[in-house]
Amino acid sequence: MKKSARKMFDESKIPNDLCPIATKFFDMQVGDWRAQRPVFHFEKCVKCGVCWAFCPTQCIVEKDDHFEPFLGHCKGCGICARECPHDAIEMADEEV
Ligand code: SF4
Ligand code: SF4
Repeated sequence: MKKSARKMFDESKIPNDLCPIATKFFDMQVGDWRAQRPVFHFEKCVKCGVCWAFCPTQCIVEKDDHFEPFLGHCKGCGICARECPHDAIEMADEEV
């Protein structure tokens, strides 16, 4: 079999503050600079997992009967609210 000339990708060599997409995201507290937060209406949630699949920070976690965000890692982008097919999420301004 032919040997690959490329080395295996090693994420530990990427600086943590370079880019939230390409680094170990969970070392960062991006919730600190959030302007809005998602408010989940659990009574409307049907656990389809769409918000979980779309969240770029992967901060939405599964509970017994709903999904909910871990706000320490939520950057308030609003993608979950836009994509939820059941209008179970709305964005609210953070208080300063
Ligand atoms: S997308 Fe909406 S309905 Fe689906 S799991 Fe998330 S909050 Fe619940
Ligand atoms: S607002 Fe953005 S970062 Fe926060 S839970 Fe929704 S999709 Fe994830």
